[in-house]
Amino acid sequence: MDTNILTALGEQLMTGSLSDQNLLNQTKQQDVLQILPDANVIKLGGQSFIDRGKAAVFPVIDEIVENLPNHQMIIGTGAGTRARHAYSVGLDLGLPTGALSVLGTFVSMQNARMINYLLAKHGIPFIEPAQFAQLPLYLAERQAAIFFGMPPYIYWHETPSVGRIPPHRTDTGCYLVSEVLGTKSMIYIKDEKGLYTADPKKDKNAKFIPKISVSELIEQDLQDVVVERAVLELMSNARNQTQIQIINGLEKGNLTRALNGEEVGTIIYAD
Ligand code: ADP
Ligand code: MG
Repeated sequence: MDTNILTALGEQLMTGSLSDQNLLNQTKQQDVLQILPDANVIKLGGQSFIDRGKAAVFPVIDEIVENLPNHQMIIGTGAGTRARHAYSVGLDLGLPTGALSVLGTFVSMQNARMINYLLAKHGIPFIEPAQFAQLPLYLAERQAAIFFGMPPYIYWHETPSVGRIPPHRTDTGCYLVSEVLGTKSMIYIKDEKGLYTADPKKDKNAKFIPKISVSELIEQDLQDVVVERAVLELMSNARNQTQIQIINGLEKGNLTRALNGEEVGTIIYAD
């Protein structure tokens, strides 16, 4: 092979070990590409949002449609209560994490299908992971696409340090799509104003936190948080998506405000 055209780094990668820390360190010299910088990833919560049915879902569908002329949206879905039921049966049967992950994937796909039926008349497609290569075309043609939020690790999911529930679920899958594609924003639509010092459903004295850095949040070591902890860990190494926003989708107008760059809800940023 003619190695003249290879850079010094390229040559080292071919001859060196990919476990060598010094070599790995050199691979971050180049700026990372923002593949879809004009798109927004929006996650519709499962338990917190879609499971509430039309009272929650219809107004947000209307708001998505209203925003189609102005904003590109890659819409991911959570799984929710039906997945938790499947996990409980699976746990009772002794299924390992990788098998539970498969169950969660199919529930978030059910939710993606339902959202797809509601947006079908606006030409918005549902895409599976194998169709992500067509996503730029769908955004260019229709401004939006729907996917299931569960990352497709399926059987290959790692075993978590605590318990057996897959730690990388739909918040994580959506975050990774926004990080890899370098999208403008990552917006989580849930049923609370944003992050509090404790779960506001359980603690009436919980205080709202409008903005916080990932490191501060990890340091606070809260008993419970509003997004999967895996998202916070992944944000610590973010190359593109250094910010997430959590909004209350039960209040009309919040999605539009977030899409317009307003600091509504909670913003968590990587420092
Ligand atoms: P999703 O349906 O998007 O997966 P979850 O139901 O898993 O959302 O998570 C959102 C829920 O997290 C909220 O409805 C809230 O009750 C709960 N929660 C737990 N801890 C917090 C916290 N510190 N701040 C805000 N909400 C919290
Ligand atoms: Mg959740």
